[in-house]
Amino acid sequence: MSHRRPEAIDALVSALSRLPSIGTVTAERLAYHLLAVPEDEAFALADAIRRVRDEVRVCRVCSNVDANDPCRICEDETRDHTRVLVVEGPRDLASFEAAGWKGVYHVLRGRIAPLEGVRGKDLTIAALLARARRPGFAEVCLATNPDLEGERTAQEIADVLLGLENRPRITRIARGIPAGAGITQVQHTILADALEGRRELR
Ligand SMILES: [Zn+2]
Repeated sequence: MSHRRPEAIDALVSALSRLPSIGTVTAERLAYHLLAVPEDEAFALADAIRRVRDEVRVCRVCSNVDANDPCRICEDETRDHTRVLVVEGPRDLASFEAAGWKGVYHVLRGRIAPLEGVRGKDLTIAALLARARRPGFAEVCLATNPDLEGERTAQEIADVLLGLENRPRITRIARGIPAGAGITQVQHTILADALEGRRELR
């Protein structure tokens, strides 16, 4: 008689394998790892997942993640709300905060990556266009990563923004971030320079 493993293990493997960059082999390894560690360690992970989903909100304005919705950046009246920095994810946002950006943000929640099945409509581009159409915006600066997919994402967004009537200035951060390094990996002074040297797209 063949031995079948408990269905609960299949369910965990299946859930883990749906995470980005986790294949079936890694999902199997993680599932058995979670069975091998002390129970409180495994439950701490489950609690952390539940807590982050309970306590962290996605901002209805900029799609940043924060304890508040709208987020604290969108609610901060001391910031320049006429300038929007478009970033791929919340970690990029944190890097530009550290680099001294004083405007607001728009978080795309990813980048266009056809090989991974991520298309423009999977990102928050429609919400960005709705924001950019409103009067009062001076500039939309595209600050996606300076790699193949980041450049492609910036270009596709720029193409749409440039077609808007009464559009704000459309800019792109300067090249200067070393090849192979992502925005979250470089020094904040380099990001500050990339912001300083941003160029207008026409
Ligand atoms: Zn926000």
